[in-house]
Amino acid sequence: MKLYNIIKSVYTFIEKTQYLIRLIRLIIIQYREVFMNVYPNIFSNNPLDRVSYLRSNPDWIKETVAKDDTVFTPFWRGKPFVSTISGLVSGNSSPDQQSPAWFPLSFFEEKIISSSMVIFLGLLNKKAYFSIDISKISDPENEAGLKDLGIFEDLMVLSSQAIDPGELAILGQAKAIFEWHNSHKFCSRCGSESLLSEAGYKRICGTCSSEHFPRTDPVVIMLATYNDGAFLGRQKRFPPGMYSALAGFIEHGESIEEAVARELNEEAGISTKEVSYHSSQPWAFPFSLMIGCIAEANSENFELDEIEIDEGRWFSRSELKKAIEGNNSNFFVPPSMAIAHHLIKNFVNGQ
Ligand SMILES: [Zn+2]
Repeated sequence: MKLYNIIKSVYTFIEKTQYLIRLIRLIIIQYREVFMNVYPNIFSNNPLDRVSYLRSNPDWIKETVAKDDTVFTPFWRGKPFVSTISGLVSGNSSPDQQSPAWFPLSFFEEKIISSSMVIFLGLLNKKAYFSIDISKISDPENEAGLKDLGIFEDLMVLSSQAIDPGELAILGQAKAIFEWHNSHKFCSRCGSESLLSEAGYKRICGTCSSEHFPRTDPVVIMLATYNDGAFLGRQKRFPPGMYSALAGFIEHGESIEEAVARELNEEAGISTKEVSYHSSQPWAFPFSLMIGCIAEANSENFELDEIEIDEGRWFSRSELKKAIEGNNSNFFVPPSMAIAHHLIKNFVNGQ
């Protein structure tokens, strides 16, 4: 009995230490912008090596899929599967924290695998990570044996939780590529059905053999500034009281700088003097890249496009400081999961 108690206390100590180490790691990651010149945009900082030179080799993919330590994370209708069970997750910060769940391929029945989309995500410490989209089945908990092991959760909901940022970035990668395949099932040249190839990084038309590659839609999001003020607007779909940086898709034949100037002019009648790049954020809703910029305006003049923008105005640095700190009762800005938050914070800090 004494030996049992000793083993139990050693086990409890190790378990608590592991959680403490993970918690410290998360805190360091969350606050690394204080120490380093990096921006903590969520969905970036993906730790996987995508080995694009290997994934085009079908023999390598076949061998890798069959390896004992290769793991697969399930998606169902745009939602990743998360769990709190320590054998399924690679790292949660507390016992009740949901994290992405990883399974060996043998967990899934052959009929599930053959009706699913399987994509390669990358390697980490020589271990291969894949994702499997089981959207074709209607009851994944029961049909795929996932009942009581976890839940399918919205990625946007997960992004506001204390999940390992690297794993969140991996889920964003998987979601974006699944979204692209699900909306590009037919050849854009001849209209025939195309088939997934190269572990998810190409589609080939079954009729005309055209090759199609997953695309990312570039979006500019910019904070217009003039002296001690920055311009924020709100769209009708925003929650009441929320203001954010203006944004828009980059058009063909347009540079990032030109897109920033055009969007500011079209949406708010603001004339841009100079554009500088801040940081970017992969945004898997459905498959965009947010390109964050600061735009120095020529003046405080503005005229809103009332179809695009519901309300908008110049805010002072002190007003925005209070909003970033959550102390302004009149309005609020997007939370730290959004790149807009970091553009505003950057301005508040005088950078
Ligand atoms: Zn075709």
